[in-house]
Amino acid sequence: MSARMVLLGPPGAGKGTQAARIGRRLGIPAISTGDIFRAHVAGSTELGRRARAYMDRGEYVPDSVTNAMVADRLAEDDAASGFLLDGYPRTADQVDALERMLSERGEALDVVVEITADADAVVERLLGRAAEQGRADDTEPVIRRRLEVYAEATAPLAAIYEDRGLLLRVDGMGGIDEVTDRIMAALAARLSV
Ligand code: ADP
Repeated sequence: MSARMVLLGPPGAGKGTQAARIGRRLGIPAISTGDIFRAHVAGSTELGRRARAYMDRGEYVPDSVTNAMVADRLAEDDAASGFLLDGYPRTADQVDALERMLSERGEALDVVVEITADADAVVERLLGRAAEQGRADDTEPVIRRRLEVYAEATAPLAAIYEDRGLLLRVDGMGGIDEVTDRIMAALAARLSV
């Protein structure tokens, strides 16, 4: 099945977990810009060095850097007939860049899923993950900043995609399986999967 999808939602909404599960079910790669950046940081590449300063503060990496990285990733063979983007686009400029990348290939997005979550729950989840995984940007002040940046720069993207008739909203509160089932049901109604 060929689906070109974007997953939106605040930090801590469970995007990464759900992206991997939905990608597996649909047979498309789940592409997480956060994971790609972290791999570059771990490998001490030039890109990692540039991205790290932003990530450590909870700020977004500049669009030019992120857009080029995503264009490279989408050019790989496994993304030819579908993909699920997790954590991209996050700015209006990235929305336009993605549209250009796809239209150059004669493609367009099929659907955008927004996972919603209440603010207190996401802070609690992220602090829990900090204790388990020790991610560098999961400290309380940086979490707060990531949520602010999301509200300012990324939350408005849902309205852009809603205007284009692409948006599905799914409640991200509840168990992992429950949320996966909700997303799959919403997609089934939309994509006939
Ligand atoms: P979360 O959504 O939980 O904050 P991610 O793993 O998706 O975490 O992203 C971690 C960091 O990577 C972000 O705070 C940001 O610095 C950087 N990043 C990831 N995706 C993007 C993007 N599309 N544009 C700019 N920066 C990004």
